[in-house]
Amino acid sequence: MAILKVSRLGHPVLRKPAAPVAKETISSPDLQRLLDDMVETMREYDGVGLAAPQVHVSKQIAVIEVEENRRYPGEGPIPLTVLINPRILSSSKRQIEDWEGCLSVDELRGRVPRADALEVEAYTRKGEKVRFEAHGFFARIIQHECDHLAGKVFLDRMPTLQSLSHLKEFIRYHQD
Ligand code: ZN
Repeated sequence: MAILKVSRLGHPVLRKPAAPVAKETISSPDLQRLLDDMVETMREYDGVGLAAPQVHVSKQIAVIEVEENRRYPGEGPIPLTVLINPRILSSSKRQIEDWEGCLSVDELRGRVPRADALEVEAYTRKGEKVRFEAHGFFARIIQHECDHLAGKVFLDRMPTLQSLSHLKEFIRYHQD
């Protein structure tokens, strides 16, 4: 396993729609190693999610994991989830605005409205197609990662840049 270099805002790979993964390549050693490396990279940098374009790979892959989360104490941890070619089939009209950050947008936080609930379809790392519902913080992370796969970052989803804060100021003035 290896810790991969994280692409930062301005790198064209973050603005390019990622290519779908061919189902028959999911079990290949190369792809399985990429998944392992993405998980290791996400954990190394304390991310709650990581999309392949963030490690300079323009493929529709995201990994998500939350061990504990003080911002959503009721939500509980999110077990390691690997999403390949994820598709949001439907999303709730109800939106919730909350703070987001991104490993590719270093040291900044901003408020982003996101659908509170989703229905998602994706392949697992075993190549099985799954369909599931996600709510709250999990739904937020999925939307954030699916945006990466479409060449978008959370800044694009902020209705106004008014809340945009450096991490230090976010912690000092805005974190509960
Ligand atoms: Zn991100």
